[in-house]
Amino acid sequence: MNESVALRPASGCSATPVLRERGQREVFCGLTSIVWLHRAMPDAFFLVVGSRTCAHLLQSAAGVMIFAEPRFGTAILEEQDLAGLADANAELDRVVAEVIARRPDLRHLFLVGSCPSEVIKLDLARAAQRLSAAHGPAVRVLYYSGSGIETTFTQGEDACLASIVPTLPATEAAQLLVVGAMPDIVEDQLRRLLADLGLPRVAVLPSRREGNPVPVGPGTVVMAVQPFLGETCAALRRRGARILTAPFPFGEEGTTAWLSAAAGAFGVPAGRFEAVTAAPRARARRAVDARSGPLRGRSVFLLPDSQLEVPLARFLTRECGMTAIEVGTPYLHRELLGPDLALLPAGPRISEGQDVDRQLDRVRSDRPDLTVCGLGLANPLEAEGLATKWSIELVFSPVHFYEQAGDLAGLFARPLQRRALLAAGGRA
Ligand code: SF4
Repeated sequence: MNESVALRPASGCSATPVLRERGQREVFCGLTSIVWLHRAMPDAFFLVVGSRTCAHLLQSAAGVMIFAEPRFGTAILEEQDLAGLADANAELDRVVAEVIARRPDLRHLFLVGSCPSEVIKLDLARAAQRLSAAHGPAVRVLYYSGSGIETTFTQGEDACLASIVPTLPATEAAQLLVVGAMPDIVEDQLRRLLADLGLPRVAVLPSRREGNPVPVGPGTVVMAVQPFLGETCAALRRRGARILTAPFPFGEEGTTAWLSAAAGAFGVPAGRFEAVTAAPRARARRAVDARSGPLRGRSVFLLPDSQLEVPLARFLTRECGMTAIEVGTPYLHRELLGPDLALLPAGPRISEGQDVDRQLDRVRSDRPDLTVCGLGLANPLEAEGLATKWSIELVFSPVHFYEQAGDLAGLFARPLQRRALLAAGGRA
């Protein structure tokens, strides 16, 4: 690691026993990730094969954000017995042909599976092969599952990106492959930083450049920007790439550590790293200091939802002065989260999985100053007098890297500021 950015040695929560919860879950399903994935992949269409419930979820989650013809839809399957499956396949072929005919710019069409039993009976992986043969090479048809039985909402992105990996062209060239959907503005900032560091080739999966597939091979170093991309990383490793882990790029410290790992992998001299990062680091520190006042000395409880919980807890404790009481995550990917776990100051309970009633009991007994949780839990907790932050907002908002560090602190500070204002108004 670059000496100038060496982090204090710590084992933090690496050895903390993990409380494993296996009960009722309160998390959106993987279909939800289509809301941000369709923006990150301008040449893709997401066709959910599902029920009216799936269509309603997508419409209510994403409908308000669509200003042009949407790039997702739902092929609704009504009750089908096994004898009706031939008809269902024919209907699917018809719908896919119609979508492709209407959208000549499409290069990828994803068949997205869901939970209803009539969908599970369909072999969508085989349907994707059949449709790829019919519409390729212009349009590649891929399949992944967004079913709520198998996936939480961020796992939908993982399943989608993992389905692309086997189709990527091969390369021997040395390159950094950054995985994870980012808002355009964040990706542009990252590319500028990596170019200033002198990295020879940088690719991003998913690619927002139409018709420009990302290559992969033994010279590829993969770094994830999201901790929920375990399947995608495993698929890239099977293609010969090397997975490089680092703290995730949230806040000044996480960003510096992430960039330092990338720079180290490509032999960037320490002086150049310092010259490129000194100014944005100082800006990020000032921005976090300016926005984190309401968080300092306060406690936070993170319920399992987005899989961002461990790196966010690291940011909130080390850069914003909070104390973590419990850090829950739907799935604790040890390899990807190891560097963040090592930096997270010892003390909080670490839990994996969900048993919502038991976790809510602990929230009520701990009475944290701030609870980070899913949409469905936020309102009841607010009604009980607890300040909450929706974790799904952290997936939609630009929160990665230096220029967003202050906004990230601000997202957590806002519920506490709102409560303080209401309390002051109530007293006036
Ligand atoms: S995939 Fe399953 S959980 Fe998600 S909306 Fe459809 S039926 Fe509901």
